[in-house]
Amino acid sequence: MNYELVTQFIKQTFNTDHFIPLHEPRFIGNEKAYLNECIDSTYVSSVGKFVDQFEAEFARTVGTKYAIATVNGTAALHVSLLLAGVSNGDEVITQPLTFIATANAISYIGASPIFVDVDLDTMGLSPQSLKHFLEQNCDVVQHKCINRTNGKIIKACVPMHTFGHPCRIDEIKSICDEWHLALVEDAAESLGSYYRGQHTGTFGCVGAFSFNGNKIITSGGGGVIVTNDEALAKQAKHITTTAKIPHKWEYVHDEVAYNYRLPNLNAALLCAQLENLEKFLTNKRVLASIYERFFADTTMTFVKEPENSHSNYWLQSILLENRAQRDEFLTYTNENDVMTRPIWRLMTKLDMFKECQHTDLHNALFLEDRIVNIPSSVRL
Ligand SMILES: *Cc1c(COP(=O)(O)O)cnc(C)c1O
Repeated sequence: MNYELVTQFIKQTFNTDHFIPLHEPRFIGNEKAYLNECIDSTYVSSVGKFVDQFEAEFARTVGTKYAIATVNGTAALHVSLLLAGVSNGDEVITQPLTFIATANAISYIGASPIFVDVDLDTMGLSPQSLKHFLEQNCDVVQHKCINRTNGKIIKACVPMHTFGHPCRIDEIKSICDEWHLALVEDAAESLGSYYRGQHTGTFGCVGAFSFNGNKIITSGGGGVIVTNDEALAKQAKHITTTAKIPHKWEYVHDEVAYNYRLPNLNAALLCAQLENLEKFLTNKRVLASIYERFFADTTMTFVKEPENSHSNYWLQSILLENRAQRDEFLTYTNENDVMTRPIWRLMTKLDMFKECQHTDLHNALFLEDRIVNIPSSVRL
């Protein structure tokens, strides 16, 4: 395979001979203006108008009633799981092909992940694998899903929309409803992605997004929890802000909680970034069609959005023929100033999670050997 041709093509597409990162942020709007305004106001920290403004605008963008900003996406996931009722000793079903934060957030609570397989086309949690696991191993007893193999309660299911491509979230939701599992979406990568016209992250009781530096929009670091449930929204705000009871001067906190609030400074950056989301999304879809046409004439397969969905194409990816080819491709491109990365090592292969229960992971193993991300930044 001619990796040189691919490297040349990517350099031509990004119109440079210099190093091309996998994904870099773009600050082309009101970022500096809002940051200056924030500094001039002195409200750079845990209160300020940009946090409120961002929360309102984000909720409108994804179509939920509420949005609660957090310090990062992992914190948003951690709190989302608490809101879904997950507690110490419970179990939570997720996919093994994900960024570590998904499994970490489950572990922070003292719960254990169970890994079910992904679908080949979406790279996200497979409803078939989920259903099969539940039918083989679980019983519903008094509205609770009990894992027969250890007697533990499975409280929730956390599918993830890999690289922004929506998984079969409607099927997953109906299985979760049937088995009394709370649905918590890890939508960290999928801002701007829709499944059958509905924004990802809004199908379950709560959803979590990330605004880390490599995501489609960034606040440096940041995250958000979305929900349509007023009680959950209030609880989210409460436990991300040290559970302080509002009072003019008294320090009264009614539970052990978290300092997970997004600083106003980061929210200022995020308000400006959100204004350009549509522009970024359009730009990424143009890049996807350029890549798609190019890779059609190669032995590599460009990964397209799955059916019934509209993807943000956050990280563009290709499928190589086998692991050896993948490694050759990674070596060549990275040695020639084109940053590429393999998909994540499966969670079930990491020391912390290798004892966790899992299904047959046929598809996850197949994709782990073959998927590579290629430069995906917005070209402006
Ligand atoms: C980025 C990401 C998160 C959250 O990451 P933070 O860096 O904590 O904002 C969670 N899950 C997935 C799948 C991610 O890609």
